[in-house]
Amino acid sequence: MNVLPMNETSARPGESANAPEKHPEIFEVDLTFDRLGLPDPVLRGIKEAGFERPTLIQAKLIPVALAGRDVLGQAKTGTGKTAAFGLPLLAMCDPAVPFQALVLAPTRELAVQIADELSELGRHGKVTVDTIMGGERIKAQASRLRKGANIIVGTPGRVMDMAQRKLYHFDNVKFTVLDEVDRMLDIGFREDIKRILDRCPKERQTIFVSATIAGEIEKLARRFMKEPEKIVTSGASLTVNLVEQHYLAVQPWDKKKLLLHLLTHEEPAMTIVFCRLKKSVDMLAKYLGEKGIDVHAIHGDMRQGKRNRVMKDLRSGQLTVLVASDLASRGIDAEGVSHVINYDLPEDPDLYVHRIGRTARAGRHGVAWSFVTPQQGGLLTQIEHLINREVPKLDYPDFVASPKPDTWRDEMPGGQSFPTGPEQPKVNRYAAAVNPDLPPAAEQVDVSRFPGGIVPTKLPPKRMMGRIPSTRPR
Ligand code: ADP
Repeated sequence: MNVLPMNETSARPGESANAPEKHPEIFEVDLTFDRLGLPDPVLRGIKEAGFERPTLIQAKLIPVALAGRDVLGQAKTGTGKTAAFGLPLLAMCDPAVPFQALVLAPTRELAVQIADELSELGRHGKVTVDTIMGGERIKAQASRLRKGANIIVGTPGRVMDMAQRKLYHFDNVKFTVLDEVDRMLDIGFREDIKRILDRCPKERQTIFVSATIAGEIEKLARRFMKEPEKIVTSGASLTVNLVEQHYLAVQPWDKKKLLLHLLTHEEPAMTIVFCRLKKSVDMLAKYLGEKGIDVHAIHGDMRQGKRNRVMKDLRSGQLTVLVASDLASRGIDAEGVSHVINYDLPEDPDLYVHRIGRTARAGRHGVAWSFVTPQQGGLLTQIEHLINREVPKLDYPDFVASPKPDTWRDEMPGGQSFPTGPEQPKVNRYAAAVNPDLPPAAEQVDVSRFPGGIVPTKLPPKRMMGRIPSTRPR
């Protein structure tokens, strides 16, 4: 567990955080944990973890959960959602009853992390925690489960599997939690989740949390809950102010070179580089390794043992650059991550929020850079709408762009174009400015103001929802 060190004044990315008082965006500065109704052993665990003040989501969610209500909670990344649902579970579970709480998470890495944090926070109480997840031998898991832990944290597929093998049952489940609920209810997991929740007793309390919950997912989530209290602490923007967000305009064939340039010239302390495809992760890690960068990779096709080793190195701060698929985009909490680089912009704007949320956690500073190719301007605009914030351009004058190689094909890894929506103008002026092969601009425009190519001719209807003033010309 990463603990927010107190009374420190560092402001460098990835370094330790400031005192909670300085971050009312994250912490409930007027409240202490002992006012939330938690029992003494849990309060001792909190104190030993070094948590001084509750975060906003903890201050709001904990009393509601302790009162027995269902909760749908939305809070920014890195603001302590795990303890927000975990502390009430530690307070409410009866140590004599096995399998009383079931917490589901989308990845094994996140399930382990949640279980570790709950075990640590609950170390002075009698409530026990265990995991059920793929990548581990069934036999080993079954023998652990026979001890009958009170809280089970698991991934949906293996939980169903263990239940079908009659090694686990839902009969005692009194509390169900979905972490990253929007991911858990999207098409990939939905059927498993539905089957699991249908098998849990009706008389139970349900808590769902995420940093992003779109309207249609909320509707679906509500079907599994009883008059939930909705708690939103994300305020005007979905991303924390402590993350400095920029985009870098780059041609697809120059992305590798630009990445290498940034890693060697900026020397960020610990960087996660996100790619869309597993094969791009492998390709990029190989390229950086050949260039002498200390690089690791993680994606879902790797053996679990290797994934675990990489996660351990990430958490202990022993790794410099991690090239990752979106396997690592949600929930993963590693204190030292100073930079996130979106090598490929994610197609789903929600994923941007989760990816950059791997830095600037619990009051620390962080840096997020996104590579934007001329085809991806529309995608960046969609992201800006979602986060309700403008992502400014970062110019990198000492990087020399290359001409398009003769051998370049647009479908090469890293060069994919993305759907940019119906507003895509016929003449992409920015692209024309950086690429002489394209038609020239019809009129003079300050292209540096426009991410990757879309020069809007009129304001989109929901632009920034009117809350954050834009500095772009209207
Ligand atoms: P989220 O799920 O919102 O992304 P996490 O639950 O992973 O965030 O918490 C982020 C980090 O903040 C973790 O390292 C956690 O131990 C730490 N943390 C949680 N609550 C507090 C608190 N009240 N004070 C200080 N640190 C905290």
